[in-house]
Amino acid sequence: ASEEARLDASTQASKAMYEKARTHLVNGVASAYQLRDPWPIYIDRGRGATIIDVDQNEYIDFHNGYGSMIQGHANPIIGEAVAARYPLGTHFGMATEDSAVVAGLLAERWGIPRWRFVNSGSEATMNAIRIARGYTGRDTVMKIFGSYHGHHDTVMVSIGEDYDRIGPREHPASLAYGGGVPQATVDMTIPVHFNDAENLERRIVELDGEGRKPACLIMEAAMMNLGVVLPEPGYLEAVREITARHGVVLIFDEVKTGLTLAAGGATERFGVMPDMVTLAKTLGGGLPTGAVGGSEEVMSVVEDHTVNQVGTYSGNPLAMATARASLEKVLTPEAYQHLEHLEDRIVTGCQEVIDSYGLPGYAIGAGAKGCVTFSPRKVIDYPTYKQYQDRPVTQLAWLWNMNRGIYMTPGREEEWTLSVTHTDADMDRYVSAFAELAAAITN
Ligand code: PLP
Repeated sequence: ASEEARLDASTQASKAMYEKARTHLVNGVASAYQLRDPWPIYIDRGRGATIIDVDQNEYIDFHNGYGSMIQGHANPIIGEAVAARYPLGTHFGMATEDSAVVAGLLAERWGIPRWRFVNSGSEATMNAIRIARGYTGRDTVMKIFGSYHGHHDTVMVSIGEDYDRIGPREHPASLAYGGGVPQATVDMTIPVHFNDAENLERRIVELDGEGRKPACLIMEAAMMNLGVVLPEPGYLEAVREITARHGVVLIFDEVKTGLTLAAGGATERFGVMPDMVTLAKTLGGGLPTGAVGGSEEVMSVVEDHTVNQVGTYSGNPLAMATARASLEKVLTPEAYQHLEHLEDRIVTGCQEVIDSYGLPGYAIGAGAKGCVTFSPRKVIDYPTYKQYQDRPVTQLAWLWNMNRGIYMTPGREEEWTLSVTHTDADMDRYVSAFAELAAAITN
């Protein structure tokens, strides 16, 4: 309670802004993911790894725009790309050279030959699923229970449920994530659990027997909305083999993992090749953009217009200019080395604190992403996350960090995202705040 009161006291300008904003802006925010009780925090500006709120509180940013800003805020290279493009016009609804260059750079990084652009992660997964449906001529979609893939109907299913609603292990429930999602759509989305390839195969066979063989499985190669949940050895390879054998299109949703886990995302890091990939977030370096990549065969339905993939702002020149600058000049091999170095420092540091205080939990990470999971047992899927996560301590850690100048996502369950502008000192500051927390809760 005292940490809560401390944060409330230091964010009074945000409170005043909220009181005014909420008259016309619902809840005072543009997206429910910007909410935080009792009022949201309004940001004034950011530079590098630092953000400053409207109360002029300064934070080291570990939220990084829900994992979108690994270039760092106001990165001068991105700024130059915007400044060079702006006087030439920012939107024509027509192709520009940069979009072809970016498609080529992504093809190189992912080893996936064919690409199209969209404006967000949701658009990317919506289009990927439509392409998979068009390619296979089937309607059913499989996803991982507890995974978030954006806010279109097909994937607003079986996301943030209470433990007692998950359903039987063999047949986890298809549940609408909030109102407004048609039941007919919910029924077409079948969840399975992460790290359980045998269950996946049994479900595919079963659905096939019922005359509703799935078009695709959409999944994150490492789950990124329960902290970080890595694939167990052999799991992704088994998923690849099973989906290929049954003719189910495998989509890696790399909206979060793409460009953060490695230069070629989770696909490169885990060495398993999907049929399709979705990107967004980091790709634009702070401008809204997204991409769908696929094999020659799958994307042929886009090429021959069997499936319509469209969008007024798709391939927007400004976003393509920043994406190009990011890929060519910011997210270099040296940048990934730096991110891995920082990640090692923060994960090792946090794990040392956990070990020395005997905390029930562990530090985990990959690339620019990581977290401390407050759970006495290793989280391997959504049920183990719901069953074992110590939620009060997770929430306390969030408040604790915020009060010590460490900005985390208000969703609390998200991992940290590092940027190329973070330093060793930033990692050490995180670790020392965590050590103080460990001392406080074990006292
Ligand atoms: N896919 C994943 C894995 C995500 O984490 C998100 C957003 O957090 C999305 C898709 C949706 O992206 P957007 O919010 O840009 O629509």
